Amino acid sequence: MIDLKQSVQYVKGVGPNNVLLLQKLGINTLEDLITFFPRNYEDRSKPKKIYELVDGEEALIDVVCASKVSEVRFARNKVMLKMLVRDDTGDCVITWFNQTYVKNQFKIGERYQFYGKISIKYGRVEMTKPVFDKEGLNKNTGKIIPIYPLTYKLSQNKIRSIIENGLKLISDKLEETIPEYILKQYNLMDLNTAIKKIHFPDSFETYNKARTRFVFEELLTVQLALSSLKSRYDKEVDGIKFDKNVKMSDVINSLPFKLTKAQLRVLEDIDNDMENIKPMNRLLQGDVGSGKTIVSIIAAYKAAKSGYQTAIMAPTAILAEQHMQEFSKVLEQFGIRCELLLGGMRVKKRREVLEDLKNGKIDVLIGTHALLVEDVEFSKLGLVVTDEQHRFGVRQRANIVGKGMNPDVLVMTATPIPRTLALILYGDLDISIIDELPPNRKKIETYPVTKNMETRVQEFIRKNVLEGRQAYVVCPLVEENEEFENYKSVIELAEKYQTTIFPEFRVEYLHGKMKQKEKDEIMQEFKDGKIQILVSTTVIEVGVNVPNANIMVVENAEHFGLAQLHQLRGRVGRGEYQSYCILIYEGNSKTTKERMKIMKETDNGFIVAEKDLELRGSGEFFGTRQHGLPEFKIANLFEDVGTLKEVQKLTLKIEETDPRLEKEENEKLHKLVEEKFSNRISI
Ligand code: ADP
Ligand code: MG
Repeated sequence: MIDLKQSVQYVKGVGPNNVLLLQKLGINTLEDLITFFPRNYEDRSKPKKIYELVDGEEALIDVVCASKVSEVRFARNKVMLKMLVRDDTGDCVITWFNQTYVKNQFKIGERYQFYGKISIKYGRVEMTKPVFDKEGLNKNTGKIIPIYPLTYKLSQNKIRSIIENGLKLISDKLEETIPEYILKQYNLMDLNTAIKKIHFPDSFETYNKARTRFVFEELLTVQLALSSLKSRYDKEVDGIKFDKNVKMSDVINSLPFKLTKAQLRVLEDIDNDMENIKPMNRLLQGDVGSGKTIVSIIAAYKAAKSGYQTAIMAPTAILAEQHMQEFSKVLEQFGIRCELLLGGMRVKKRREVLEDLKNGKIDVLIGTHALLVEDVEFSKLGLVVTDEQHRFGVRQRANIVGKGMNPDVLVMTATPIPRTLALILYGDLDISIIDELPPNRKKIETYPVTKNMETRVQEFIRKNVLEGRQAYVVCPLVEENEEFENYKSVIELAEKYQTTIFPEFRVEYLHGKMKQKEKDEIMQEFKDGKIQILVSTTVIEVGVNVPNANIMVVENAEHFGLAQLHQLRGRVGRGEYQSYCILIYEGNSKTTKERMKIMKETDNGFIVAEKDLELRGSGEFFGTRQHGLPEFKIANLFEDVGTLKEVQKLTLKIEETDPRLEKEENEKLHKLVEEKFSNRISI
């Protein structure tokens, strides 16, 4: 059996220098090498006749050499080399620059294949800087050529030949990873063929079959991993049956507003889950401001009145404090005690809280990841609510859940995720959606503008701040960076604003590299109205509520995903004031313009998310990186929805017949999941 974990240095053609270059591409082992999939392919397999050539295309021609290579010297040491070639439909001039070695490569009257970019001016056909082969030698032409992603100093030719050598080393000795019955049923290509054909396909049809196989495998592995998590919750454990006689309607009737239909529907799901013996594992999705918090308050009421404690985990101290206010406002009148537990608390106070928690005197404990600490002990933890889940990984969720006896879990997120993606990212959870905002919300006006409007944007900020409002300005970078010289950075912009543009106001900045305590202080001061303009990275994305802030400016908006822009926009429009989202973008690309238009015209987060996925592909989809799941190496959730559906059907079937993957026929699947996810879960 071939050792896939062996260092790539044993592959022919990989010298010490190349080892380092390969490392930069994340290629350390033989396995990394052969799964370094091409980004694209060039079809150099079908020659065209010269008269068929089109200006601007890249093409292959099969021609006879009709002249010597002539040299034209110009500028400093620059040489242009030209040669005439011909087929039975016309002539073509081949041009190179400085590549003087081509001079002795050709013989008049002999046949060659050239592949390169065509330009046609005044009927004169030219091909510049082509690759070529002598007739019968198919090294650079005559086939479909893989193009690899960014390879720094390694040329495409070099990496191609290294991969070719890697494949030779493997020579069909890979062990199949998908069970035979699945390969058959879904007509999938076997591993050894697929790994060769994905790099060097002989036709696009073979390429598609090879790719589909890997997509299938990748998606199946993730789905099975999620399903094993889910089946653990579903079947094996008994949870808590909360009291049927505790009526959520008692709190609902005490509220100063009427819940929306969507909130009521979601609460019904939750109520059912809570009364069921099976532990709840539910994802609550809802746009910013859709009123998720009140839903969790009502669930906590049900838990408390049934004799159980609730833990609420927020991603930041500010949010935890915000929740604390809202929870006590509603629940205290029912004799339910809420307490806050934060990282930097005074020792004495902290000890008191922990003591009361352990003795069951506290019903609802609200905090940050401080709740995860070992000495935090509940007496009867029955409900866990995590807010804005993408800040917490799956593992942390498991950690807090472990503090209770199979408590119910409610995960809340304001990241609207298209259904297909939700199934992948949260396949282990049931999903409820609040798809409606409370009535009488003022629509946030969104204006995409180009950079030359900067001064007007600043005047607009000034006018609003003078009226007592506050503004956020978001930049993509923390500090100036040569590599992205066109991008605005938080520190420089804040300084410029403070010293030259808005000296009469207080401008502060906020970014992720700052200490949590500093961030909290700045945020608190902004909340208290002591800071007028807050320049920040996307750290302010999560649930912060400053009703007095009514302007969100995003610099280099073209840099951000739509879903992310939508989240940023949700920071304003939280009070009584008309709010604005100003997207300053650069560049003329059609996609950028289209995306800006979507932002202007759509205020529904789910539609924004769908469009985002459509325009960018899932690889870049905002957030996948943060969800504690691996990024996909080859699958694109938008393009591969069809395969995903097949995989989901198959997963369901396996879930029914062999949930722990113990049957012999599923041994390979067990291995797949173990290998990829052993550090995250165990079956
Ligand atoms: P989310 O967490 O979903 O972004 P919140 O729960 O913070 O939204 O709710 C935003 C605001 O709307 C809160 O001030 C909340 O009290 C209020 N709210 C929630 N539901 C309703 C409703 N049905 N009608 C009116 N206001 C509501
Ligand atoms: Mg919230």
